[in-house]
Amino acid sequence: IDPVFHPAFEVIERIEQAGGEAFVVGGSVRDFISGRPIGDIDIATSEPPQRIQEIFDKVIPVGIEHGTVIVRHQSVSYEVTTYRTEKGYEDYRHPDEVTFVRDIAIDLARRDFTMNAIAMDRCGNFIDPYEGRIAIQNKTIEAVGDPFHRFREDPLRMMRAIRFSSQLSFTLDASTKEALDAESALLAYISIERIAVEVQKMYAGKGFRNGLELLTETRLHHQLPIINQFDLSELAPSVPLQHWHELLAYFITLDEKLSLDHFVKRWKLSNSTKRQAGSLLKAVEAYEEHRDVTAWLVYRLPAELFDSFARLLQALGQVEEDLKSIIEQKRKQLPVQRRKEITFQAEDLIALYPDIRKGPWISKAMEQIEYEIIKENIENDYEKIKEWVLAWNPPVNN
Ligand code: ATP
Ligand code: MG
Repeated sequence: IDPVFHPAFEVIERIEQAGGEAFVVGGSVRDFISGRPIGDIDIATSEPPQRIQEIFDKVIPVGIEHGTVIVRHQSVSYEVTTYRTEKGYEDYRHPDEVTFVRDIAIDLARRDFTMNAIAMDRCGNFIDPYEGRIAIQNKTIEAVGDPFHRFREDPLRMMRAIRFSSQLSFTLDASTKEALDAESALLAYISIERIAVEVQKMYAGKGFRNGLELLTETRLHHQLPIINQFDLSELAPSVPLQHWHELLAYFITLDEKLSLDHFVKRWKLSNSTKRQAGSLLKAVEAYEEHRDVTAWLVYRLPAELFDSFARLLQALGQVEEDLKSIIEQKRKQLPVQRRKEITFQAEDLIALYPDIRKGPWISKAMEQIEYEIIKENIENDYEKIKEWVLAWNPPVNN
């Protein structure tokens, strides 16, 4: 068994010593069986959250009413959730009622897909009532129980099915797909924030083409605002995109009539996503103008977006290779890395023209100087810049 599970097994052992029962469940079990990298490890337990709080010293009560607490053990966080069933889903959003139970089988029954409904004990034995391991072997995504019922109960599961098809390159089993086809309109009841998480994960998956094809085939893509005006299966990026700011820049580059502002509002994305998408769009525009990664482009692009920009150009089919190392190289060769390294600053400019009223001309002139330095038309030397400015005579009529 993968050693990443060892501390989780110690958590389980402690619960057992206190008279309870616990298993590793969910995505980590699935990823372990399929040989994929293991992410967060979730634990399901017979014990109510109050008991877990008594058993462990470091417990963060993140969702007591749903039975979830976080246990910190050996500097890792484990979500420990009491076995539960969910009833209701009257409004397609949240279960009306969560009931704690003492039988793992009942907890596994509420889970979405058979590959996600496997429990593993601390010796590596599986409880797998829905034959999830076989589904994993066959690379199929199949609902636990009647897929129509399960999608009606929680329509977000349809988006999850599609995102898993992308992340895992699995296919939907026939009846699960049929149900997705039939119930896709119900996605309209799900909050855009939760859909946005799944869309991002879908575009980031290696098998994103499977996801895009399924979205179109099942018409689930009708439920994705703005994105639905594209022919998604025709118009796929050449490589997976990892973040929403990359997706925004991707779609807006394809259709310049789209407004970044509107897109961000409609999908309720964050301001930082919007800012990053804006920087990427500027960089793409500069790239398209010069057909090259110029020094000025590299200077203006925040370093944390190098990866995103390289990926985006690749996704847009503008470049073949991964540009990141080229960009990093160019960054190192810039005469200055940032504005404050320039030896001639605004106060020096003002001192040269003491009689002229301060105004926007100052920042415009400073940006011009910055540009000339990056282009290596002027050396970053106080005297040389001063000389250049005097010869230029910056326009001051504003
Ligand atoms: P990831 O690797 O992306 O974290 P995951 O399968 O762990 O994938 P989570 O969203 O972390 O997905 O959920 C953990 C587990 O909870 C799932 O494996 C599944 O058993 C269950 N689950 C999550 N969301 C739902 C849902 N909407 N309906 C039913 N079961 C769900
Ligand atoms: Mg998970």
